[in-house]
Amino acid sequence: MKRIAILGSSGSIGTQTVDVCRQHSDKLQIAALAVGGRVGVLAAQAQEFGVKKCAIGNESLRGSADAPEGCGFGFQAVLDLIYADDVDVVVNSLVGAAGLRVSYETLKAGKVLALANKESLVVGGDLIMPLAAQLDAAAGHAGALMPIDSEHGAIYQCLLGENPKEVAKLWVTASGGPFRGKTRADLQTVTPAQALAHPTWNMGAKITIDSSTLMNKGLEVIEAHHLFNMPYDKIEVVVQPQSAIHSMVEFTDGSVKAHLGTTDMRIPIQFALSFPDRWEAPVQPLDFRTLGSLEFAAPDTDTFRCLALARHAGTTGGTLPCAMNAANEIAVAAFLAEKCSYLGIAECVEAVMEAHEVQTVESLEQLEEVDAWARAQADAWVSAHN
Ligand code: MG
Repeated sequence: MKRIAILGSSGSIGTQTVDVCRQHSDKLQIAALAVGGRVGVLAAQAQEFGVKKCAIGNESLRGSADAPEGCGFGFQAVLDLIYADDVDVVVNSLVGAAGLRVSYETLKAGKVLALANKESLVVGGDLIMPLAAQLDAAAGHAGALMPIDSEHGAIYQCLLGENPKEVAKLWVTASGGPFRGKTRADLQTVTPAQALAHPTWNMGAKITIDSSTLMNKGLEVIEAHHLFNMPYDKIEVVVQPQSAIHSMVEFTDGSVKAHLGTTDMRIPIQFALSFPDRWEAPVQPLDFRTLGSLEFAAPDTDTFRCLALARHAGTTGGTLPCAMNAANEIAVAAFLAEKCSYLGIAECVEAVMEAHEVQTVESLEQLEEVDAWARAQADAWVSAHN
């Protein structure tokens, strides 16, 4: 029995993780749950699964009548769940850079990290990956850090049994989002509702906007760099509009392995929790007879500037991805609140990146300072351009 803490259990990944645990109650036990502020969802989950350890991140909800008995409040209460004796695996499905400390503390505590919070690696990959490597070395096998992102789960599976030295390239696939084929002129008047309508994947608001700008793909390139220790010139993005191919690995002999499957996040979530085994999944299998054609195209980085900006941040390294990510979080929130135009998201990110003096990553505290600085810069940019 794997005993799991789901941090961010009311979000898209969180509720789907709960669903995977429901399907495999003989192998997975929910030991702890945390949400940001959705008290009702937490209370229902805690009751259904008999979970005694709960936390609500939003301090201002302290004393909320609907909260489960013994529930903790505030970010520290969320972090405390990681260290509970009956937690083996932490699913980190927090949104944004706030997830970095959860990832860091999970590995510090010697627990398995099932990571849906890609920002952890984008911002703090230089700190997180050495911790994961230490745990893997101590255990004598890989598995301390399991990606939940569909592309990275796909690459992870393509690399199983392979020699890393024989990898020529990682092909990270992108659906292209709802605005594939559009020009910058077309995108000037995009509304939040239009950007929230993703063609193939059902996800939370922040990542859906990031998918539409291709920032999500940019973050995933940086994530892949850290996870698979791969230089940026060996990580390529290809648009695959059907999202049937979740990513590919090319080897030095020209062979390419692709991972295909239905676009259902419960598959990569389940793999992260079942590894090294595979379990049955109650998802519709891919029917190749009705799939039709698979299309491929190069991404349009002139229209979707965020992908180019993220690649620049990644190749520059240091604290630049941290500043970029923080600026993006502010700009996306401002866009959703109709305080920033759609194209303004990339402009804001670029302005903050240009103003940032890049440092070598040294500590969590340093990254938190850079994050706060970049948020303030981005806020000021949004105010000046609203
Ligand atoms: Mg993804």
